[in-house]
Amino acid sequence: MTNNSALHSTAQAESEFLPGPVLLLGAPGVGKGTQAQLLVSKYGIPQLSTGDLLRGNIARGTELGIKAKAIMAAGHLVDDEIVNQMVFRRLLEKDTHRGYILDGYPRTLDQARFLDQMIADPRFLPRLPVIAVSIVVSYDQLLQRITGRRTCPVCASIYNIYSNAPKVAGLCDLDGANLTQRADDTEPVFAERMKTFEAQTAPVVAHYRALGRFEEADGNLSVDAVNIAIQQALSKLRGASK
Ligand code: AMP
Repeated sequence: MTNNSALHSTAQAESEFLPGPVLLLGAPGVGKGTQAQLLVSKYGIPQLSTGDLLRGNIARGTELGIKAKAIMAAGHLVDDEIVNQMVFRRLLEKDTHRGYILDGYPRTLDQARFLDQMIADPRFLPRLPVIAVSIVVSYDQLLQRITGRRTCPVCASIYNIYSNAPKVAGLCDLDGANLTQRADDTEPVFAERMKTFEAQTAPVVAHYRALGRFEEADGNLSVDAVNIAIQQALSKLRGASK
């Protein structure tokens, strides 16, 4: 192979890279939604969010939605059985056959085991195991992102007093309205959410880490840099677990 054709085939391999089933993890406020969307457009694969699927069932008033509604309203986890069956049906749809970005699932060890077993069945494509990437942002930075957030009640512009402050403190640049802070954007609420998040995700992270299918991506960088870090983690993991 000449140097040129070697280069060409490397470029081709890169552009054809598909990450397969990907679990994206991250605490509230790390920018997981933004990153998931970027991966969806880069790879042309769907995002599968169990929160969205459940909310869709509630909106349509399905039997499953009726069961899930009160549980979700109370902030508890919906039964593994219900969520697993919902994901089972979703993964039989064709648009997932080249891969997908899992968001909010698996959230328990039992869900992770169910998923691993399910997608090992040849009916599920692509025939690749799940790889997991966690977007990690330092506690202090997350705290600033959340407690610094201010919103304009008139035009819905969003500011951050630490990183994107309005020209005049407390007032919207566009219409001069008094900016407001969401009642749950406080340190005690944030600390509680972080604790719950860590307790919930720890077993799932430990599961994929033990299988050599887990990487962290530095989320303290710009949106584009974080996205590159995630893509690098995906190629590394896929290279290691075909
Ligand atoms: P989310 O949009 O991911 O924050 O999910 C919203 C709510 O849906 C959660 O608080 C749970 O009640 C429920 N939920 C979403 N995904 C799962 C899951 N994998 N297992 C159990 N409950 C879930």
